[in-house]
Amino acid sequence: MSFSSLGLSDAIVRAVTETGYTTPTPIQQQAIPAVLNGGDLLAGAQTGTGKTAGFTLPILHRLSTDANGAAITSNTTARPIRALILTPTRELAAQVEESVRTYGKYTKLNSTVIFGGVGINPQIKQLKHGVDILVATPGRLLDHMEQRTVNLSKVEILILDEADRMLDMGFIRDIKKVLAALPPKRQNLLFSATFSDEIKALADGLLNKPATIEVARRNSTVEVIAQKIHPVDRDKKHPMLAHLIKANDWHQVLVFTRTKHGANKLVEQLGHDGIGAMAIHGNKSQSARTKALSEFKDNKLQVLVATDIAARGIDIDQLPHVVNYDLPNIPEDYVHRIGRTGRAGATGEAVSLVCVDEHEMLKDIEKLIKQTLPREVIPGFEPDLNARPQPVQLRSGGPGHRNGGGRNGGGGQARAKTGGGGGGNKPRAPGAPAGGGNGGGPRSGNSAPRSAAQHRSGGRGR
Ligand code: AMP
Repeated sequence: MSFSSLGLSDAIVRAVTETGYTTPTPIQQQAIPAVLNGGDLLAGAQTGTGKTAGFTLPILHRLSTDANGAAITSNTTARPIRALILTPTRELAAQVEESVRTYGKYTKLNSTVIFGGVGINPQIKQLKHGVDILVATPGRLLDHMEQRTVNLSKVEILILDEADRMLDMGFIRDIKKVLAALPPKRQNLLFSATFSDEIKALADGLLNKPATIEVARRNSTVEVIAQKIHPVDRDKKHPMLAHLIKANDWHQVLVFTRTKHGANKLVEQLGHDGIGAMAIHGNKSQSARTKALSEFKDNKLQVLVATDIAARGIDIDQLPHVVNYDLPNIPEDYVHRIGRTGRAGATGEAVSLVCVDEHEMLKDIEKLIKQTLPREVIPGFEPDLNARPQPVQLRSGGPGHRNGGGRNGGGGQARAKTGGGGGGNKPRAPGAPAGGGNGGGPRSGNSAPRSAAQHRSGGRGR
């Protein structure tokens, strides 16, 4: 199957072909015709499936062609926003808008992205100039709405991307305010990795007789990824990581730590070993995060150290190595982390440095993925088998910190929480459900415990 056989215009097919993609992914095969039809869509797909092009391509087609499919060539002067794409994080917003630009380069459409943490004035200027497709995070979009610097009254297509994450991050009220500012007659597309009751409720209120499609998670069997556990003493993790990077000559290594402090410390330690590393997490400025990410993507930075929330939605083609420096305390996060390697059929490697404190977490992960991961002791780093476990620090801040950062702050662009906290911060008993999980992993919708998200979305002010 080709992109042109899906009914996309020549201008769009040409742009896709230039990116090197010849065959639509399963989500694209299903979503593109459904969106071209003009109806609403409920799509179950996570990052890595090709979902971005799945909605970007058909909306570009719809906005750039007339009812007969002919290209619209005239450029009207007044350009109202015709498509609005909401995403949970700045990084994802930037990536989505980049896709819109790439795939829309042979159309007359223009786009812009707005998110918090950066100056609002350049965004106001952009919006004034006229924009066909706006990609935004909910908090900053509301700022613009309050300042009346954005006009959403002509929106024809609304896309909620990673809707489950937006809900997990407490954006439901913001989303509802945005919905209230849109014209009632429009096309709505909702993309979500999971279908919780909250998502179903949102979909019920938003979508009109939607086409429903669901594709398997890209790494549902986690087969393309070689996974390994390196048992190690807690104070030997850093020398072990430096050893692995140097001995194997690893480049482009994405390393996950549980805490922001842990990320900073590791960057410093690797620096002393002569290994170039930068951290991205909620306490870093947006410009520092953008710089780190782009250097890493361009292969100029050897190691990127990230916390789970900062890494959300980051899409790096063919990332060869993911290292769990600390295991995540929410098992679903493990799948989400390692899903960043081995994309689109490329082989990837995910190694986890596991000390005695993390054995229970490892058990929970193995239970979730229904696999026992191979253990490989690295000579020179044999763990002390008599070591006793200690409680681990789960993250840097207090309750709700995982989602912290507020509207213009860091974190994952979540609004500041006042009533949250939920179950995310406490160590769990082995096998206990992961409350507050926002990993977006392989949860099967309803069965996933959502206590923190539910807690947060109720009764909280802005
Ligand atoms: P997404 O799920 O939108 O985050 O996309 C995941 C990755 O798949 C991105 O790096 C895309 O560039 C890539 N991609 C999108 N469409 C295709 C395709 N048809 N064939 C191969 N890779 C693709």
